[in-house]
Amino acid sequence: MHKLEETKARIALAARRAGREALPTLVAVSKTRTPEEIRPLLAAGQRDFGENRVQEAQDKWPALKAEHPDVRLHMVGQLQSNKAQEAVALFDAIHSLDRPSLVRAIAKAVAASGRRPDLYVQVNIGAEPQKGGVAVDALGELLALARGEGLSIAGLMCIPPADLESAPFFALLAELARRHDVAGLSMGMSHDVESAVIQGASVVRIGTALFGPRG
Ligand SMILES: *Cc1c(COP(=O)(O)O)cnc(C)c1O
Repeated sequence: MHKLEETKARIALAARRAGREALPTLVAVSKTRTPEEIRPLLAAGQRDFGENRVQEAQDKWPALKAEHPDVRLHMVGQLQSNKAQEAVALFDAIHSLDRPSLVRAIAKAVAASGRRPDLYVQVNIGAEPQKGGVAVDALGELLALARGEGLSIAGLMCIPPADLESAPFFALLAELARRHDVAGLSMGMSHDVESAVIQGASVVRIGTALFGPRG
């Protein structure tokens, strides 16, 4: 699996340059990809996959998980509160907690199911009106709510503005994580993964570099 090896090499090189020992978890973002496109990655040993729609993940993954029970599924798209229960049932990590109503819905689903997916709070790091994520100013309050609801937060997640260099936004997310005592950083996509690794990403989310351009 040439593209997988190539991507892992990019990540390893960036980690070496940053003097990092631990490599981030590589999430292969498989949204819009067919099982036929996904299977070669599974055969090459890739186990973490990302989807951005609950329905699509429900359609695609039960059969693939039956073949590879150790797959870990990551929800990387905006989540409606009325899908919280289904998301908690299916996903091992949710990267898009971004508002009080969703935090409450997730807390309820966690309590009811006993499942505890890793939870990341998405931060609208470039203050873009069209993007999901909690405003930087409201992050502390949302984290306090989540903790008050009994949720433990694995990390922060961001998608920097497409038209600007990502590095300063990754640095800001890392600073926010330190300030709020959160350990993980879900950041870095196909075009900016090196920068994210250098800034301390614990999880990178890669689609295009692994699967080719989305149609
Ligand atoms: C699609 C997507 C990715 C992967 O993006 P690529 O540019 O294809 O690597 C990562 N994160 C999120 C939230 C996405 O929606």
